[in-house]
Amino acid sequence: MTQKKKAKGQLVVLSGPSGVGKSTVIAELLSERTMHFSVSYTTRKPRVGEQDGVNYNFVSRQEFEGMIARGELLEYAEYVDNYYGTSLKVIQDKLDAGVDVLLDIEVKGAAKVRKSCPDALFIFMIPPSFEELSRRLHARNTDNEDVITGRLEKARLEYKEIPNYDYLVINDKVANAVGEIESILTAAECRFTNRKYMIEGDYAL
Ligand code: 5GP
Repeated sequence: MTQKKKAKGQLVVLSGPSGVGKSTVIAELLSERTMHFSVSYTTRKPRVGEQDGVNYNFVSRQEFEGMIARGELLEYAEYVDNYYGTSLKVIQDKLDAGVDVLLDIEVKGAAKVRKSCPDALFIFMIPPSFEELSRRLHARNTDNEDVITGRLEKARLEYKEIPNYDYLVINDKVANAVGEIESILTAAECRFTNRKYMIEGDYAL
């Protein structure tokens, strides 16, 4: 049977505490799977090695507040004194074109997406232990001790939101975390509702 492109892309929301290794897992996932990664807007300053338009679209507070006022964001949140948000138009265009879209967003933003896009898949990623998270944040060597303390406190609050997610992925090793996410995405892909077209119209038996 010829594969017909699905009518709508799958929206996938990935959350997890800062430092858990989401960026590394996402980079690996994107090298194995065709999907669009939503580049968020943020007022945070770029870290060493981060590129504008690749890791984030880095904007001023004024620019960000303009986007909020014009209703250009699917969701946004303030996280450790900075704004982070997702462009509505980019996501909509990709999903309408049948392309799967991956969002790396924190829990407040994810809660907003849960309300407006109930069909999205919600995945939460955790490290094997809290001590390991602290170790990874220190090893990253990009934030001062106050920022790290803030991120760890935030992580404790974020863990309380885990029951609102569909899946829990453990990032002990990148390959394992990527494998678990691949399995989730493959299972979602096989849902009857996503494959209805395969038994309808020209494809009917
Ligand atoms: P970081 O500063 O470590 O890159 O990101 C801090 C947090 O902001 C992470 O938990 C990340 O998932 C989240 N984040 C990144 N982009 C967005 C976004 O567009 N919206 C929301 N709500 N959170 C985001």
